[in-house]
Amino acid sequence: MKALLPPRSTPTRDAALERLAAREWDLLVIGGGITGVAVARDAALRGLQVALIEQGDFAFGTSSRSSRLIHGGLRYLAGFDFGLVREGLVERRRLLETAPGLVRPVRFLYPVYRGDPDSLWKVNLGVLLYETLAFGYGLGGRRWLGRRGLTQSVPGLRRDNLRGGVSYFDAATHDTRLTLAVAASAEHAGALLVSRCRAERLVESDGQITGAESTDLLGRRTLQVRARSTVLCCGPWQTLYPAASVSMRTARGSHISLPSRRVPLDCFITLRSPRDGRLAFAMPVGEHVVLGTTDEDDAVAPAEVRPTPADTDYLLELANHAFPSADVGRADVSGAWAGLRPLLADGSHLDADDISRRHRIISGPPGLWILAGGKLTTHRRMAEDLVDTIAPHLADAGVAIGPCLTKTKKLLPGSVVLGRKRLNEKEVATATVDGLAALYGGRLEVLATRLSNASGEVDSESLLRAQVELAIDDEWTLSLDDLLLRRIGPGALDLKSCIAQAEPAARLMAARLGWSKEDTRREIDEFHAGARRDLAAAGIDPSATTQRVGS
Ligand SMILES: Cc1cc2nc3c(=O)[nH]c(=O)nc-3n(C[C@H](O)[C@H](O)[C@H](O)COP(=O)(O)OP(=O)(O)OC[C@H]3O[C@@H](n4cnc5c(N)ncnc54)[C@H](O)[C@@H]3O)c2cc1C
Repeated sequence: MKALLPPRSTPTRDAALERLAAREWDLLVIGGGITGVAVARDAALRGLQVALIEQGDFAFGTSSRSSRLIHGGLRYLAGFDFGLVREGLVERRRLLETAPGLVRPVRFLYPVYRGDPDSLWKVNLGVLLYETLAFGYGLGGRRWLGRRGLTQSVPGLRRDNLRGGVSYFDAATHDTRLTLAVAASAEHAGALLVSRCRAERLVESDGQITGAESTDLLGRRTLQVRARSTVLCCGPWQTLYPAASVSMRTARGSHISLPSRRVPLDCFITLRSPRDGRLAFAMPVGEHVVLGTTDEDDAVAPAEVRPTPADTDYLLELANHAFPSADVGRADVSGAWAGLRPLLADGSHLDADDISRRHRIISGPPGLWILAGGKLTTHRRMAEDLVDTIAPHLADAGVAIGPCLTKTKKLLPGSVVLGRKRLNEKEVATATVDGLAALYGGRLEVLATRLSNASGEVDSESLLRAQVELAIDDEWTLSLDDLLLRRIGPGALDLKSCIAQAEPAARLMAARLGWSKEDTRREIDEFHAGARRDLAAAGIDPSATTQRVGS
């Protein structure tokens, strides 16, 4: 993860910083991951005056490092956490309806082998229970598959001792783009969101938290942000109110990606590690297959978390065990990344894997709340609970607050269907349209309109230009990192191709943002160095020859 700051601010951002310091807000949200932007959206839709500050880019923390599943979590059934599973399943359905395209149903296969801890009937029963818990919000489609059915669905799957499996439906998203969509929706509802602005310390007056002293990290100015209520949505960062950190435990989860031609898959698969029996997933995403995740307690600073070479080898071993003909080694890996799960410590010595993914609202001194734990899937519900909790405090201060609107309100005004239609009219290849729909959801219509208005054919250059312009004009993009890792294309899934794309993308950004030649060169060089550093930390040397890992 690169600490590089963008070369400069923009006039829109400067105006936002002025507004930030000019008034007292009903609610100040600190942290622009999925949790923070969801709180900002919920509160703004209820009529509150809301400001949000994020020290890096939106979703730069855990919210761009997840497995991207929108699910109840089949494996949480083993811990009998039925409430959590039901909550995730209900939210899954709501997201499928309110963020179509961006959240989409996906087929899962759960193969079972002789000697596995869970027999085929137990897995089938588990999936049945999973579907039953979704009652009223389910996706259906559960099927038993025999050995032959499974190997027909996934020809490369290991056959020795294969008993059969279960196929069912769940959902997936693009975590960063979902966070950006929720952020855009919050802004649409009237919230003010500013990135590269760090809360340095909470301000207290007469025993009450009244906002935060903050730094504009680009102008290096100090700002006083005043608010009647303040919420910390800082994920694994616990510097502002260390008392909350006693409730937190952080676990590193790593992923790697491989070119899909090495592991051809058209559905998501649950895999069991040959080393320790842990469950993980193989997930097709565009031209890649993502493998993950690991789950290790790790107290590293959140901005420094990266996969270790051992994580990479663990995941490669999993791939080679499950798909014997894949024959993949470190040189095949196109991207590797890790995130820190902000888990709620319960004082137990459970493995990180087994700790509950529930969320909790911790009250600090009057005027301060911390929203901790939770999942990408449950962000909407977490935000609703938080705003319900602070409502009485705001009502006491004479602030009117409306009902929660997020259960049914569409995230974005655009239409995926219209966006697809416009791109088809421009004869854009179907695979490209599919990839863009999964990135943009309803905003595909906005991108397609930009492309329709441009004269001539849509080629890779005009597509990149339209994406860069949209990212800068409407999506708070300030640096090459923001663009390549979190807004367009495969991002961390293909760091090698991001390195190749850096030069043309930086030239387009420079033209839009008025960067000097020196600034542009520095952005490109630092991007290249950062991406290579991230690959090297995971033990990946792009020039190395393939060495098979595992049996
Ligand atoms: C490997 C892995 C896989 C996962 N897979 C899934 C999955 O498949 N499905 C699912 O539902 N969930 C999944 N999760 C969980 C999910 O990703 C997290 O619960 C969620 O992203 C946490 O979001 P957050 O906003 O709370 O934290 P973050 O995304 O970390 O956001 C916190 C933000 O606060 C900012 N911040 C911190 N301090 C300050 C400050 N002083 N001033 C300003 N800003 C500050 C940070 O820069 C950061 O952007 C996964 C997690 C991991 C690690």
